[in-house]
Amino acid sequence: MQIASMHFKERAHANMANVQLQRNLRKIEGKFVAKRRASLSELDDFEATREAGRAIRQRALDNLDVWLELFERNAAARGATVLWAETPDEINAHVLDIARRHGVRKIIKSKSMVSEESELDRAIEAAGLTVVETDLGEYILQINDYEPPSHIIGPALHKSKEEVADLFAKAHATPRKTEINELCLEARGVLRQHYLTADMGISGGNFFVAESGSVVVVTNEGNATLTTTLPRVHVAISGIEKIVPTLEDVATLMRLLPRSATGQSISNYVDILTGVKGEGEFHGVEHMYFILVDAGRSGVLGSELREALRCIRCGACMNHCPVYQNIGGHSYGWVYPGPIGSILTPSYIGIDKALDLPQASTLCNQCGVVCPVKIPLPDLLRKLREQQFDRGLRPWTERFGLRAWSWLAAHPHWYAFAMRIGARILSRMGGSEKLLHKLPFGGGWTDGRDMPAPEGRTFRDLYAGKARK
Ligand code: SF4
Repeated sequence: MQIASMHFKERAHANMANVQLQRNLRKIEGKFVAKRRASLSELDDFEATREAGRAIRQRALDNLDVWLELFERNAAARGATVLWAETPDEINAHVLDIARRHGVRKIIKSKSMVSEESELDRAIEAAGLTVVETDLGEYILQINDYEPPSHIIGPALHKSKEEVADLFAKAHATPRKTEINELCLEARGVLRQHYLTADMGISGGNFFVAESGSVVVVTNEGNATLTTTLPRVHVAISGIEKIVPTLEDVATLMRLLPRSATGQSISNYVDILTGVKGEGEFHGVEHMYFILVDAGRSGVLGSELREALRCIRCGACMNHCPVYQNIGGHSYGWVYPGPIGSILTPSYIGIDKALDLPQASTLCNQCGVVCPVKIPLPDLLRKLREQQFDRGLRPWTERFGLRAWSWLAAHPHWYAFAMRIGARILSRMGGSEKLLHKLPFGGGWTDGRDMPAPEGRTFRDLYAGKARK
């Protein structure tokens, strides 16, 4: 996937002007929000569960090296091989090497956001192998020339039923279907042959359990179950931060994940996969590999943004974000959209390659309130903004304005004076309409709407007058 995060503003403008996309976004708006709210009411004490989830994820991160080594030992004891990828390119190299070693020709995949970081599908195809995405959303995007996902749990949420119908008719050369059930049946028919003929299955992993060396994969379509059990070889790819100490920890996190993601009390399929099949066993794969990926994560772990690594990828922050809801996931220009994406993208690819993402938030804190593992998303966005300011990465006008503001804020008399003068000027500019059509030095605020001009005396003057009475 091309990194386009530097073009956030242009992409957001284009997506807001895209009538079809806006129509699709309005259809899903609020659905996840309402379902999450209803499912949380089933829990006696959601806040206590949320705090337990935060503590579990933080405990894992605080001793990440210890848990990773324990995971490696336990996975190896069950016949699996653990490989480490320091960069996205190393993910692809490992996968192609495994494929060569086991004579693999066809690979099926269930959803893995980390593999989007390395554009794994394209690397597999470039090596002359066949790869088929089996998550319905990912499959829709694959047949549309590898369109990037727009949401971490619903990759094709931005597409309407009609657009999917057109894609299926073209890709499968079948009569165009219009009912969702018919479209699902058609996809099932196509994918089933691939499950039965693939040599290797690649999955992501929601959690990697240190005490047992297992990977936990959560889906609603059952595609991960087939992907990880039917082929001879299973490769699970995930970031190093996805480790959790115990299976009991998984049980707690599973009370939070589906509820926060889709508003379900439990997902349709929860696979806990441990090792290869033993002698005389009928079920299980012959070869199992884990690829644990750093690609910027250890840097984040050692930084003031480390809390972002607690993320369990539920998507609740984007479902509740007023910015995401209006511009859609593609505006963010890389793998991870929404509030968490605005933190992870600059952290993984470099803050200088995603200059506008930390600003892509109103800091309303909806995301922070709904996050099931209590990541303080607005605080982390603010920290990124500070880093940008300190490194001189924002426009000079903005830096000058902030410096002037900070000086004034530290000198109350000058602050009061400047506010009085500023309010008078803006009030005059507002004219009889009392509206500002263009804000000086802040044109972006008035590009799409007028701003009410200040009227009368400033708050400080009014307050001082009241205190004297
Ligand atoms: S930051 Fe929190 S709300 Fe957002 S995806 Fe991660 S866990 Fe979910």
